[in-house]
Amino acid sequence: MGDHKPDHLLENGSATMLNPLDPEEFRRQGHMVVDFLADYYHNIEKYPVRSQVKPGYLRELLPESAPLKPESIEKILQDVQEEIIPGITNWQSPNFFAYFPSSGSIASFLGEMLCTGFNTVGFSWITSPAATELESIVMDWLGKMIQLPKSFLFSGGGGGVLHGSTCEAILCTVVAVREQKLSVIGRENIGKLVVYCSDQTHSSLQKSVTIAGINPKNLRPIVTTKSSNFQLSPHSLELAIVSDVKAGLIPLYLCCTVGTTSSTAVDPLGALCEIAEQYGIWVHVDAAYAGAACFCPEFRHFLDGVEGANSFSFNAHKWFLTSLECCCLWVKDPAALIKALSTNPEYLRNYFAESEQVVDYKDWQMALSRRFRALKIWLVLRSYGVTGLRDFIRGHVKMAKHFEGLIATDKRFEVVFPRNFALVCFRVSPLVIPRDKDVNEFNRHLLESVNASGDAFMTHAVVGGVYVIRLAVGATLTEYRHIDKAFRLVQEHANVLLCVY
Ligand SMILES: *Cc1c(COP(=O)(O)O)cnc(C)c1O
Repeated sequence: MGDHKPDHLLENGSATMLNPLDPEEFRRQGHMVVDFLADYYHNIEKYPVRSQVKPGYLRELLPESAPLKPESIEKILQDVQEEIIPGITNWQSPNFFAYFPSSGSIASFLGEMLCTGFNTVGFSWITSPAATELESIVMDWLGKMIQLPKSFLFSGGGGGVLHGSTCEAILCTVVAVREQKLSVIGRENIGKLVVYCSDQTHSSLQKSVTIAGINPKNLRPIVTTKSSNFQLSPHSLELAIVSDVKAGLIPLYLCCTVGTTSSTAVDPLGALCEIAEQYGIWVHVDAAYAGAACFCPEFRHFLDGVEGANSFSFNAHKWFLTSLECCCLWVKDPAALIKALSTNPEYLRNYFAESEQVVDYKDWQMALSRRFRALKIWLVLRSYGVTGLRDFIRGHVKMAKHFEGLIATDKRFEVVFPRNFALVCFRVSPLVIPRDKDVNEFNRHLLESVNASGDAFMTHAVVGGVYVIRLAVGATLTEYRHIDKAFRLVQEHANVLLCVY
C-alpha cells in the first residue's frame, strides 16, 4: 500500500494490492462497473429469466480457495459475466412476473451507490446527522404522500424508520408491545400472550412470533374463505379473542394485511381495528406490496381504517422503484419501540443523545449499525416525483388489466380471484382438463413448463385449495408487448400439455 502506481502488475507479472480507496482507481473501476451494468441492461432479454443452472453449478466453476494474490477488475468482471450471470434469476427482466416485483431504477441504484460510497454507520444522530435527519424527513414525506394520519408522522408524535425488511418491522413491533404488556402483567405471563392474523398472513409474522419468544401455539391464523375473498373476518376475529380471554389468555397483537401475498386480498382495517381496540391489541398493517399502489388516490381507499392501527409498513423495495432493502415502517408510539429496543452502553453515550433533541435510530430497530438507506428513497422521490411514481404504478395496473383481457379471449383459461392491483391469479379451467386428471397438478405442470423455457418467470399460490398461477406485473422494464408474449407463451405450453394429457 502507499504505492499509487496505476499499473497494478509487478515486473514478475503478479499483482500487488493498490490503495483500496485510491480515488483515481475508483473512478476507473467504477466507470467500468457502470458500463458493465449498462450492457447487462441492454442484453437483459437475452438471458433466461429464471436461472437454468443446476444446484452446485458454481462450485464446479470456482477455485477451492480464495486467491492468494490480488486479481484485476477486468478478470473479475469477465468471471461475473461468464460464471455469475448464468446463475442469476433476472428480477429486472421485463419478462419477470414471479413473486412480487423488485422494481429497480437508476435513481435507486445511484442512491445505493452514494450510500455505499459514503459508507457511514448512522446508528445515532451524531454518527451522521444527515442520515438520521434525511430518514425522518423522507418518512414524513412518504407518510404525507400516502395520506397517513398525522399521528404516524413525527409532527404528530409518531414517526417513521427504514428497516431492511417487513420481517424486521413486524418483529420490532411485536417486541415493542410484548415489553409494554409484560411490564404490566409480569414477565412470567409471557406464555399467555396471543397473536392474531389470518391464514393468508405472510409467514414473516410466524417467524417474528418465534423469535419474540411467544408461545407458537398462541399464534391464531384465522381461517378465511372464498365467499369473503379471503379477507380476515372481524366476526371470526372477535370469536377467537373472546374464546382466548375466557381461557385466561392475553390478546397482544394483530397483523392485518393490505394485499396478501397469495392473492392480494385486503383485510377490512376499520372493523378489525375497532375490535382490537376493545381488547387493547396492537394492530400492525402489513402493506408490503400493495402499499405502493395506495400512493395513487384511486387506490388509497384500501387503507381506509389505518388510522385505528398502531403501526403500518410497506416495502419500497417491491413496487416503488427502490432497490433492496427498504421497508418503510411508521409507528404512532415510537416510545414503545424505543423502550423495548434501546441500549445505552457507555461507549455510545454522547451529549446529543442525552439532550433528547435527536432521534437515535439504533433504538428503532434490531441491529446497532445501519446504512444510509434514506438516500435512495430521496433520490427516487426527487428523480420521479409523486406524479412519476403514480404513473409507474398505474402503468402496471393497466398492463395487468390487459392480461386479464387476454385471458378472457381464450375460454380455456380463467381468472380465479378478483384482481385488486397488478397481480393476476389465473389457471387453465377445470372444464378443459380431462375429468380423471387433477386440475391443480395440470396447472402445476403448466407453470413448470413455462418457467423451464426461460422466456418468462411466474410463480404460484394455493388459496382455498386451488392452485393458481400468479402473474405479477411490476418489473420496471415491462411493456405491453411483454404481456402479450407472456400470454402467448402460456397458451403454447398449455396447448402442448393438453395434447399430452
Ligand atoms: C413480501 C411480503 C412480505 C415480506 O417482506 P420482506 O421485506 O421480504 O420481509 C411480508 N408481507 C407481505 C404481505 C409481503 O407481500
